[in-house]
Amino acid sequence: MSTEYETTVGVEVHVELLTRTKMFCSCLNAPQDVPPNHATCPVCLGLPGSLPVINKEALRLGLRAALALNCQVNEVIWFERKNYIYPDLVKGYQISQYEQPLGEWGYLTITGDDGNEKKVTIRRLHLEEDTSKLIHADGATLVDNNRASTPLMEIVTEPVLRSGREAEEYVRKLRAVLVYYGISRCRLQRGEMRVEANVSIAPKGSDTLGTRTEIKNQAGFNHMRSAIEYEVKRHAEVLDAGGTLTQQTMGWDDVKGCTYPQRSKENAHDYRYFPEPDLPPARIAPEWVKTEKTVLPCSYEEYLAALRSQGLGEPDIEALSRNDALGFLREASEAEPDKTVLYAKRLIKDVFSLVNSTGVPLDEAKLTPAAFRDAVVMLESGRLNGEGFRKVLDTLYREGGEAESIAAAADLIIEKNDDAVREAITKVLAESAAMVAEYKGGKVAVRNAIFGRVMKELKKKGDPKAVGAMLDEQLGQPDA
Ligand code: ADP
Ligand code: MG
Ligand code: ZN
Repeated sequence: MSTEYETTVGVEVHVELLTRTKMFCSCLNAPQDVPPNHATCPVCLGLPGSLPVINKEALRLGLRAALALNCQVNEVIWFERKNYIYPDLVKGYQISQYEQPLGEWGYLTITGDDGNEKKVTIRRLHLEEDTSKLIHADGATLVDNNRASTPLMEIVTEPVLRSGREAEEYVRKLRAVLVYYGISRCRLQRGEMRVEANVSIAPKGSDTLGTRTEIKNQAGFNHMRSAIEYEVKRHAEVLDAGGTLTQQTMGWDDVKGCTYPQRSKENAHDYRYFPEPDLPPARIAPEWVKTEKTVLPCSYEEYLAALRSQGLGEPDIEALSRNDALGFLREASEAEPDKTVLYAKRLIKDVFSLVNSTGVPLDEAKLTPAAFRDAVVMLESGRLNGEGFRKVLDTLYREGGEAESIAAAADLIIEKNDDAVREAITKVLAESAAMVAEYKGGKVAVRNAIFGRVMKELKKKGDPKAVGAMLDEQLGQPDA
């Protein structure tokens, strides 16, 4: 009889913060938008005589994340040097947080395997700097330092997850929350979110955890889950055969569907952590935490609940989530929260069709929530018709700008002048005597053709509803 085991998983997540500049210097935090090694300076290259300065925006986003994840925020924090030698680390050390992280002991709620709500304990949330990027090409390794020292946040759970499924739900939810709050874009394909899962098994009821293996940087959350499930089986096979497991880092081969050893795990003291001598401890003032709490929008869960209570259906919510558009929607409809559903429908119908037709995801498009809101307001007030609205949106999506000026430049703002509309109707009716006669004779379908002529006369800038009403008024009833 084989032993029954219990699975334990703990997850470490790194995310790149959505700041304008790097963690400790004023280089732009846009590593992929400029040619390699064009976003560097003496500070992020660690040249002698340069001094780092903490990026307050990074602190603010970290604080935001700590609050969103229900962490205790440490009032005094500091940074340590984590020393190691690797080509992706020009300085020979990474500035990170060790003793006193920004946040501790938070949680994120998921649905556990037993179907009940489960609070996944977050042990720590800290800030650090990212490493350079290594590009292996033509038998050589190239180093791009644009990413060196860009702001990075690490979020570590307690070993409380019970399966690959729970781990997958946790990282998906975490990603959604961070994107919702504008903390990170978390685009996996760009490495803006990187996940490591630690897995162990132990005989059921045992009060000590088994030897763990770590699964490195998974390309997708489903890969992470497969790798965890694979490791759980492998551990059991090793133990059942009387073998022992070694603590090591594993990679995942998605083609073969198996894990493989990458390297043995270094111990924490190998890093020779010591307080960063060039940075004084920072104080996270309680007043700052308080202010940040008040400006923090309602939580991700509260927002989903609000959308449901306003009658938005699950398929729509699913579409918004899939497109990472919940934060966008919340910002766009901030001034008119009771009209959120209207904005949501427009977003889904008209913006997501642009996502498809352009191939550019919403978070890479030029369209801002404010510009989208302005365009919707113009549509709702009748200053743009449906066609004009879609044209404005298309330009906003591809090129950015403001709805009003784009609509004006493209001559799309609706003719609101009743006299001009009436004049156009009179002109068209005079030119369409035969059609008018048909209509009067009882062939009412001809009305639509006349309407088309009026809209054409107005260069399609008429508000269809208003023009239709005025036309019907002038046409009158058929004689028959
Ligand atoms: P390290 O410093 O080596 O990264 P930590 O103690 O910080 O190790 O733990 C890293 C992650 O591994 C955490 O998410 C933690 O919950 C998880 N973890 C630690 N021990 C185990 C274990 N035996 N089984 C599963 N996960 C574990
Ligand atoms: Mg670790
Ligand atoms: Zn720099």
